[in-house]
Formats: sequence, C-alpha cells, structure tokens
Amino acid sequence: MSLANGGRSILVRRLIAATLLTGGTSLLAAAPSSIVILAEGQRREVVTVQGRGDVELVAIDQVVSGLGVSLTSDPGGTAATLTFQKREIAVYKGKSLASVGGDLRLLSAPVVYDHGKWLVPVDSLARLLQPLLGIKVEWRPSARVVLFGNTGIPRVTVSAFLTGDAARVVFDASEKVPFRIHQEEGRVTVAVPRDVVDPVLQQERMTGGIVEQIQFVGGRENVFVITLGKRFQQVKAFEQEQPPRLVLDFQPIAPAAGTPAARAPAQAPRAPALDAAGIRTVVIDPGHGGNDLGAQGKGGLLEKDVTLGIARRLRAALTNNLGLQVFLTRDRDQEISLDDRTAIANNYKADLFISIHANASRARSATGSEVYFLSYQASDEESRRVAQSEGLALPPSAAASAGGAGGAGGDLALILWDMAQAEHLEESSLLAMRVQEELAAATGTDRRGVKQAPFRVLVGAAMPAVLVEIAFISNPEEEKLLAQDVFQARVAAALARGVGRYDQEYAQRAGSAVTLSRPGGQ
Ligand SMILES: [Zn+2]
Repeated sequence: MSLANGGRSILVRRLIAATLLTGGTSLLAAAPSSIVILAEGQRREVVTVQGRGDVELVAIDQVVSGLGVSLTSDPGGTAATLTFQKREIAVYKGKSLASVGGDLRLLSAPVVYDHGKWLVPVDSLARLLQPLLGIKVEWRPSARVVLFGNTGIPRVTVSAFLTGDAARVVFDASEKVPFRIHQEEGRVTVAVPRDVVDPVLQQERMTGGIVEQIQFVGGRENVFVITLGKRFQQVKAFEQEQPPRLVLDFQPIAPAAGTPAARAPAQAPRAPALDAAGIRTVVIDPGHGGNDLGAQGKGGLLEKDVTLGIARRLRAALTNNLGLQVFLTRDRDQEISLDDRTAIANNYKADLFISIHANASRARSATGSEVYFLSYQASDEESRRVAQSEGLALPPSAAASAGGAGGAGGDLALILWDMAQAEHLEESSLLAMRVQEELAAATGTDRRGVKQAPFRVLVGAAMPAVLVEIAFISNPEEEKLLAQDVFQARVAAALARGVGRYDQEYAQRAGSAVTLSRPGGQ
C-alpha cells in the first residue's frame, strides 16, 4: 500500500516512546507519545503518531484490541468498517468524517491510512467508539487516558499557596491513593503509583523563593515534580485519610545573621502540639456593631445585623450539633474594637476564632462567599481591598516601618511573625478550606475560594482563626438572601459542618505527622 495523503508529514514518535520505556528506572519517564486505554480494569498503552498540524493520531485497531470489535478495510484502502455486535461505523481515508449507523459525524482531523493502519484523531475516539460500543467512552487529555465504561480514575487536585512565610502544596485525591514522596537535589517528587490518575493543577504564582514550580510529568507512576527555590530549607509531609490528602509544607532557610529579618524564626514557628481531645471552645465574632455599621445594602440591610444573626445561629448549630462551648464577642448591637475581639477569644482560651462578615464591592455583580486566613500579603488585589475595608492588619508602627501599602516585605513579615496568629497559620488554612467548601456547597455560590489578607482582627488570635465573608451585601440578590432566616440558618449549618470536618481531621492529624529532613542539611 502506498502512503496516504499527508503520510509524509507523519512524524513517527515510536522512537521517543521506546527510549522512555527503556529508561524504566526514571520516575520522570513522561510518555507524551502514547495514550493509556483503560477498559474493564485492563490498562494498555498505545503509541500515537503526530499528523499534520500537531494532530495526534492513533491506530484504531490497537485502541479496540480485545474489545470484540472487528475491522475490515475495503480492497482499495479508501474506507474501513468497524463492527461490534450489530453496530457499524466507517471511516474514510483523508476525510474528517465518519459514518456512524448511517449518520455522518465530524472528526477533528482527517483519517490517515498508512502501512495498513487506520489512524484516527485521538480526541475523536470517544465520538466514534461510544455509539459503536454502546458504552461510555471518554478521552481525558490531562491524564492522556481513554476510559471505556464506568472505569473510575482518581482525580488528584494540586493547589499551592503561601502560608505566612512558608509554602504549602496540597494534593487532594478523589479517592484513597498511595502517595510516594522523594526528595532529590533541587526538587521534591510525589508519585501516585496507580494505573492512571487525572491531574488537576490549580497553580498560583509562587513567590518567596521556597517553591518555584509544580508540574505533572506523568510516567508510569504519575509523578508530580515540585521545583525548589533558593530559600528552601526543609519539607514536612502530612497525610490524611478522610478526605484523602497529602499536605507538603516547605519551609525557608533562616535569613543570614545581621540582616533585619534575622529575628524571624528560622523555620515557620512550630505549630502547637495537636491536642487529640480536639476542639472544645469556639469564639464567634459578629463583625462590626454599634456605630460601626459595616457595609450597607441598597435595600438598607446592614452588615452589623446580618453578622449578628448568623453568629447566633452558628452558636446554636455548634452547641447542638457538635456539643461545643461557644461564646460571641458581642451578643447585641455594640461597638467593639478589632483588638478586643481577639482578646475576648484569648481570654476564653478558645480553640477556634471565626469572624463573620458580609462583603461589599463597587461592582454590584460581585457575588459569592470567601473565607480568609491571615497573611502579611494579600493573595490578590481584591483580597487587599476586602482587608482594607474591614480594617487593615497593620498596627500604625508596622504600617510606618513597612513603608506603606507596597511594603509587604521583610519588616512586615517580621512583625506578623511576632504576632499571636503566626504559629496557627497552618491550622487556620485548613479550617478555612473546610469552611469554604461547606459554605460554597450550601449557598450554591461560585467558589471564590480560600484567600489570604492582612486582617487586623485575625492578627491577635492565639488559635486557628478565619474571617468569613458570607456573601455580597452590595449585590441586590444576595442582600435579599442575607436578610432571610432560611438563608442565615443554611449558612450557619454549613459553617458548623466545616468546623466539624476540621475537628475530625484535626484529631486524625494528631499523631500522623512525619518530617522529612533535608539530606545533609540542618
Ligand atoms: Zn465586615
């Protein structure tokens, strides 16, 4: 048979694939030139070739091998028919069309006939094979896998963010998977030795020089590579079962003696020993009060009233559902300074501090809930604005020495490290995640996510602490919701569930912490 049109432009990638497969010792053997077929618990790798214009093609007979599909070519090599049970599809040389039970379906690129092989676009496999086989067929580009039937593959979602001066990378898995962590020169690898995983990277730009980059490189062990920055000192790993999660905390090197930052702790401050007894006392802080009205909705709703209503309902939920002891920083319309609010929590020796607020934005279309924990640097411009409107974290002296709003650098970091909240940031971030997840699920608002900003009201809290912006009082629809008892109760129940999940995970973490030290390092 002669080469089909376009045959000359086919770049055979078998050689690359072969090289990668023989380098079996390397965890990093990504094989971009093959795809994985996952059918009825069987895993096969099939080599792909590159067609014209970067289209990735695969031999259809190899994809359906073992599935009971028969393939016949017409004598002239212009068409091929695939048959399964009584169903039939046909593909045509040089055409981006297939005939599926008499209907024409468009493919993403022309079919190529080369050396007796029918090559079809990888991203069109599902639309060809699903009607033929009568089962669900799905192409997952990120995992490079074609799934037949209801074969589930675990999704691993990686998120990275800064907590104080440390960097945290979290691997959330949709089901229990093994995580294997290796520290090598200049990088940490995390392998997930399952047949195949679906990686989702939610990468924020990593500043601070501790962690530079996170990549999924795949390979047989589904490897993620975390490239370390110059300031990296050591990594601590925490694994938890429910939900399945791996948390890596990357801590920075101590600054050289004599620099202004030398007073900062060499590593992130050691988190207080986890107390297996869990959470007993929670202080809820209804934002604003008295002459401090907070934000105001167009319909006249006041933030200070909403926060008190939700705080009271949250107290009831935490007391009734979780048996916790709960105090409010104010139980009436009363003005309290930001510093006094955390002082109250500290006096009660609270295990958690939750400050309740309602958001406002000049953009009336802004909606959704946000959960914050403290940082010396806002995670984005919007967070900075929110922190500003709720009262900035900086004591006047700190603001002066940090040189204004742009001064999110060393001096300010140093000041915040001296503050009570610094040693609770890890726990605060975990609490924030749980609360945010429950809140987003309950309110059906888009997930605005966990954020960080320099909120003054959190600085003095000597316990895990979060600030919740329930919804936007500036948005007319959300203002209406915020005024409703039903909505307030739903929000309170969600916040309580978040606290409950955090509490459970906290108990599990007590005792499951491992420390990986830097080889040859301190
Ligand atoms: Zn507020």
